[in-house]
Amino acid sequence: MQAKNPLQNKAQYLKGVGPKRATLLERLGIDTVYDLLYYLPRRYEDRSGILPIKEVRGEDTCTVRGRVRAHSVWKTKRGMLVYDMTVSDSTGTIHGVWYNQPYLKSYFKSGQDIILYGKAEKFKYLQMTHPDYEVLSKDEDGLETAHMGRIVPIYPLTQDITQKYLRALIYRSLDGNVNMVKEILPTNIRAKNKLADIRFAIRNIHFPNNFDNLKMAYRRLVFEEFFILESALALMKGRVKKHSDGISHEVEEGLFASFQKMLPFKLTKEQDEAISEIEKDMRSPVPMNRLLEGEVGSGKTVVAMYALLLTIKNGFRGAVMVPTEILAQQHYLTMSEFFMPLGINIRLLIGSLSREAKEEVRREVREGKADIVIGTHSLIQENVSFEKTGLIVVDEQHKFGVSQRALFRQKGIKSDVLIMTATPIPRTLALTVYGDLDITTMREMPEGRPPISTYWVEEERKDRVYKFVREEILNGRQAYVICPRIEKTEKSGIASAEEMYDELRNDIFPDLKTALLHGRMKAGEKERLMRDFRNNKINILVSTVVIEVGIDVPNATVMVILDADRFGLAQLHQMRGRIGRGEYKSYCVLLSDPKNENARRRLEAFERLQDGFELAEQDLSMRGPGEALGTRQHGLPEIRFGDIVADKDILELARREAFELIEKDSNLSDERNRDLRDVIMERYKGKLEFLGVG
Ligand code: ADP
Ligand code: MG
Repeated sequence: MQAKNPLQNKAQYLKGVGPKRATLLERLGIDTVYDLLYYLPRRYEDRSGILPIKEVRGEDTCTVRGRVRAHSVWKTKRGMLVYDMTVSDSTGTIHGVWYNQPYLKSYFKSGQDIILYGKAEKFKYLQMTHPDYEVLSKDEDGLETAHMGRIVPIYPLTQDITQKYLRALIYRSLDGNVNMVKEILPTNIRAKNKLADIRFAIRNIHFPNNFDNLKMAYRRLVFEEFFILESALALMKGRVKKHSDGISHEVEEGLFASFQKMLPFKLTKEQDEAISEIEKDMRSPVPMNRLLEGEVGSGKTVVAMYALLLTIKNGFRGAVMVPTEILAQQHYLTMSEFFMPLGINIRLLIGSLSREAKEEVRREVREGKADIVIGTHSLIQENVSFEKTGLIVVDEQHKFGVSQRALFRQKGIKSDVLIMTATPIPRTLALTVYGDLDITTMREMPEGRPPISTYWVEEERKDRVYKFVREEILNGRQAYVICPRIEKTEKSGIASAEEMYDELRNDIFPDLKTALLHGRMKAGEKERLMRDFRNNKINILVSTVVIEVGIDVPNATVMVILDADRFGLAQLHQMRGRIGRGEYKSYCVLLSDPKNENARRRLEAFERLQDGFELAEQDLSMRGPGEALGTRQHGLPEIRFGDIVADKDILELARREAFELIEKDSNLSDERNRDLRDVIMERYKGKLEFLGVG
């Protein structure tokens, strides 16, 4: 089948492919000719300079060229077959040696011209063991130029596809096809930023004539990738901004002052600033689309409470969406304490409520009696009409992806949206993951919080840790003990909350009140436990990561994390954020004997760094963006070429240019931007349809 655009032709129909190899190529993500051209090398080998054999030293990795003078197979004393080839040029002689490949004898011929590439060693003779080779017979494709005597690309492979095969295939495909690749970058952007032409870039990313060309090719391709992504984000952002039919909240005189008066503490400077930014957004008829990115414990909840108060004063409803029921319950407790006395009706909507209870909440929502509804995402989305909702707060949702955010707008929701996260996101990552949002950051803690001390302790010193826990509890404080698992699993040897709970309750702290909390418990049960813990009726709470997000018990000062190496840095940081929330000095103890070096490095970093933003940078550079924050879970496609850490300058540049372009041509409807638009639509299919740009 011939597709309209020849680059969309199946790679299968290229010479030398066929159905069987096509299946193998598919494993590499290569389906079409276009995919093949955009299949980038993993690294390069410089085989360009051909050395006269006389100049080859032992230990040199180099390329030589000569004629096969003699070749033979012989047997070592141990019975191994050795194929040995003697190659000479006008200056000297070198041997190519291969073990256990006697069949090479019938592949090569005396008198052939040949190129060898590899590491030379000097024994009695000069020798290369298992060198790469290329026979310089006048082969019809002229392929000697693909594999030797140049900077040679090395591609990621899959089983049954050889380096040479793939390289030759790409080499041949470039010729006929590279000229059909469309230039999607606007000319002025290319000129201004000195970006290579796409055809030059594709040629040179595979078969560069020199390293400068390679650099230019790489820069261009990475720019293109980021530019497409950022343009998509800019389109999204522009789309939201264009609606000026959102709610214009009115702010009555003195609202902020009276809010501050009702609080038991003075707001921090950053809380003040966040509030005024949010207030400004909410006054405007353009729907708010703001991310409040705040360090754990920096006090985001009260900022959200002010925004909720504002929307209620304007006669609207507020909705608070959170990822877990525990967090919903906690917010319900905190917010009721504040709002109920003001005559504001606040309701909790979570899956584990009885059917009647849920029905009652729904009724109140329908009848407009509920002012604030707090619950988990799905439930709120199913049950709360957003028509009368002036503000949606999405809390602790670091996995609230682009497509989910898009959904709000798709449904024509005009509400202001405030997304809060305590997962600090390095700036570069924020540019990709949250590129469509306005961002407010809060890094400072409220005053009077002594810093948390973190210690990484080997498991054999467990008893001393328990002794310390006991001392703290006798002083009136409380402790968390966190395990990676709920239940014991065979053989894994990883701490489980259930076992730990039994051990602590029966053997270590029989005289104290210990409780177990985990995600599989009934909601009523969890709620009761959380309330008891808050009221200091429980001394030690044994749990899993369920306590990771949001929980706020200022009297808890100790957190012991077992098998801490099982957790990612972001998770550890979230957990540690559960302590150090009050006036007391807090301690985080990691009990862990990790075997692997990476894990040790992570724990060391965690012990040393307290600032979530610094940790996030660290995590990003240790693990890469995909893993560190799960870019995929953010609803973004993987970034294939660029590296948002190493290439952050290119990323920032691409972002600037993309946003500038969309500013001028908000739908990319200009004829000159048509190809760019097509590529964006194609790449973000199913994610950006709501844009209605297509
Ligand atoms: P997070 O930003 O992690 O969601 P919270 O909103 O749960 O943090 O706040 C953490 C704790 O700090 C809460 O107990 C809250 O009452 C308290 N808090 C918030 N703002 C201040 C402030 N300005 N001064 C003192 N304590 C504050
Ligand atoms: Mg919070």
